[in-house]
Amino acid sequence: MKKLVGLRPKTLEIHGGGSLQDRELRQSVQRVVAFPLGSPQRAQRLFDGKEKGFVYTRINNPTVGRLEDKIAAMEEAEAGLVTSSGMSAIRLVAEYLAYSRGQIISSNKLYGGTFHLFQKFLPQLGIHTNFITDPYKSDNWKLGIMKALAKHGSPQIIDAPKFMYVETPSNPLIDIFDIQRLAQIAHKNKLLLVVDSTLATPALLNPIKLGADIVIHSLSKYMGDGEVIGGIILGKKTLIDDMRNGWFRETGPCISPDNAAILSYHIESLFGRMAEHCRNAELVAKFLANHKKVKKVFYPTLGPKATANRKLMPKGFGGLMAFEVQGGQKVAWTVLKSLKLFWHAANIGESRSLVIHPATTTHGKMPEQDRIAAGITDGMLRLSVGREDPNDLIDDLNQALKKI
Ligand code: PLP
Repeated sequence: MKKLVGLRPKTLEIHGGGSLQDRELRQSVQRVVAFPLGSPQRAQRLFDGKEKGFVYTRINNPTVGRLEDKIAAMEEAEAGLVTSSGMSAIRLVAEYLAYSRGQIISSNKLYGGTFHLFQKFLPQLGIHTNFITDPYKSDNWKLGIMKALAKHGSPQIIDAPKFMYVETPSNPLIDIFDIQRLAQIAHKNKLLLVVDSTLATPALLNPIKLGADIVIHSLSKYMGDGEVIGGIILGKKTLIDDMRNGWFRETGPCISPDNAAILSYHIESLFGRMAEHCRNAELVAKFLANHKKVKKVFYPTLGPKATANRKLMPKGFGGLMAFEVQGGQKVAWTVLKSLKLFWHAANIGESRSLVIHPATTTHGKMPEQDRIAAGITDGMLRLSVGREDPNDLIDDLNQALKKI
């Protein structure tokens, strides 16, 4: 298939994954489980991997493949593997790279579900995570790798560290990490760097261009505009093919073609939507930072790291932010309950603005000391700033803060 080459990122959100032979203006949905195999000889070649083709939707499907190619083109990755959710993508990568008895070196600034997977469930498969507290400091990563290497060969943990894992921007504190620096540390120690870039999307950041080996996205956020659940793993073609034909194929975390098509359509408007999220979030963050009842605002345009953050993500930081009020959980809940325009819901990156209290929900399963070490306090609310008129969002926050 002749590929469309040399297109700019904004064009790829619409045409990415297509080819000059395409005959459909809008992608059709191949809602089907199995594909005709043709002759027995061809069937054997397909099953042996000697011929490429569609066999069964758990492994691959043209509609899903188009989505994989589109996001891979936007990320400048060689290939992509779409999964049923962001969590299934993370689990698949961890199992593929570290099963069994391998170690992970991970930032402790993570979405609560990922932290819980790494801390509680992967150890049950023999995979051990070494969390890096204060992952801004390169030396802490180096120390973590040294400690992991020292554990190598101990009775419980036989294997060496396999990969470094970072979420940037992180959920919910929007920490921005230096991917180039982390890739250098990983590669010097013969580790892969895996980046969860969900909150950036390819519209704001391309971690592979900065040296990451594998990029993961939850597609359930900005990419699908809150309509469907999905995930993707991006990286070198050999690695993606090997994952697809092994762990992915035999454990089955595939997406439905219908959901893949919906995602492809939503991605066509990603760049424009992200620009609105970034603009609105900056305005809301500025308002909150100047409000006397707000103790602290977590958004990368604020505070001592602002200039460094701009260098790391010059296109903007997306719509997620957190802020802390004086008085802990009770006061934070009062603000949450008083908001009228913000929906109380456990998602990020939708057109409508959302609010949640991380300490008792998304990050509620983290042991308290780990949660506090990750900076998630009882008085903190997370906002996913949507695409409404920012003045309406500011008015809503203003009236809610008056209730405390
Ligand atoms: N990564 C990040 C940064 C997230 O915020 C989430 C969910 O909130 C996930 C991964 C998990 O994605 P999913 O809900 O699609 O499984």
